[in-house]
Amino acid sequence: MTERSFADRVGRVSPSATLAISNKAATLEADGVDVVDLSVGEPDFDTPEAIKDAANEALAAGETGYTPSNGIPPLREAIAEKFAADGLDFYGPENVVVTPGGKQALFELFQTLVDTGDEVVLFDPAWVSYEAMVKLADGTPVHVDTARHDFALEPALDDLAEAVTDQTKLLVLNSPGNPHGCIYSEKALEGVRDLAVDYDITVISDEIYDQITYTDEALPRIGTLDGMADRTLTVNGFSKAYAMTGWRLGYYGAPESIVEQAGKIHSHSVSCATSFVQHAGVTALREVDEEVEEMVDAFAERREFLLSAFADHGVDVVEPQGAFYMMVPVSEDDQQWCDDAISDAHVATVPGSAFGTPGYARLSYANSKERLGEALDRLDEYGLI
Ligand code: PMP
Ligand code: GLU
Repeated sequence: MTERSFADRVGRVSPSATLAISNKAATLEADGVDVVDLSVGEPDFDTPEAIKDAANEALAAGETGYTPSNGIPPLREAIAEKFAADGLDFYGPENVVVTPGGKQALFELFQTLVDTGDEVVLFDPAWVSYEAMVKLADGTPVHVDTARHDFALEPALDDLAEAVTDQTKLLVLNSPGNPHGCIYSEKALEGVRDLAVDYDITVISDEIYDQITYTDEALPRIGTLDGMADRTLTVNGFSKAYAMTGWRLGYYGAPESIVEQAGKIHSHSVSCATSFVQHAGVTALREVDEEVEEMVDAFAERREFLLSAFADHGVDVVEPQGAFYMMVPVSEDDQQWCDDAISDAHVATVPGSAFGTPGYARLSYANSKERLGEALDRLDEYGLI
């Protein structure tokens, strides 16, 4: 067989750990094993009917061709209105690009802004794909640890001040955050803003979990702070809030100069997001609230259930304020713990080390209370908690 050589960039990254573990769980299940899959971050609900109806109607109406590369006008308008309702009123429809998933939005932004040698600051634990995307763009990830501050950002600001340099091009914020569910305070974001302005750093704010929160307070968003409108790129998507992971629909808002440059990557790679899916996205944003609230209520109940169950086992878990993940402290060898959890207890979780923070397992509680209870019983039975 021909010996193939591959580009350096693929050698720099590994497959997505979250997806790899959920694939492993799926393989075991195909072999007849009953796995409680708490690995991948995917709502266990079906997409709300109104969204499915809108997609069906768009298909019936023949919306099956290419759309304008940056997205259909009604969706870009609806997204701009959502941004404005969140205090990000500087993104007009011309500042919005619709992508096949938030992941693609992030990928395009890294490709557009990061050059060889550019540093990109990530707060650990950080979602698995940020580091890979930085590396695929030939950039250098710089890690600032928040785990020792229970994932809070404010106490990590001194470390951030030491981490930023003239080479720092980008900084990535994700609040509510994957894998810990923490929400960054306004004060912490102000600290980030001060450094971003001083060092002329662009900030990507990944707000994909913004509708899944367990507090009554409005979510602090860095783009709303003085001095940040022109340097904040806000990424979001439909996967999590509307249970639309498989539809692949996301977007970003950015200054026009960035839209113009990133638009080249977008048009040469994906052309546009799927046409009838974009029409369904308009319905999601304009008409679907109740189902989102019901899903968030269900996540809130499961979160309570898990927190009290772990407390009963003497396991001290930092309370998530949003998203549907929690970081559970396990043995230092978290990889081994997760291997044992899946092989022995048939409970799939993701090792904290995949997010840059060993000693934890990430649990997604986008699963029914019964299955969560089953997972706890099994982990207990095998002495894992
Ligand atoms: N950002 C974060 C923090 C995520 O957890 C995910 C989940 N996959 C994404 C972005 C991208 O999601 P999607 O591509 O499904 O919109
Ligand atoms: N973001 C989700 C997770 O962290 C989905 C999988 C992925 O894209 O990484 O599990």
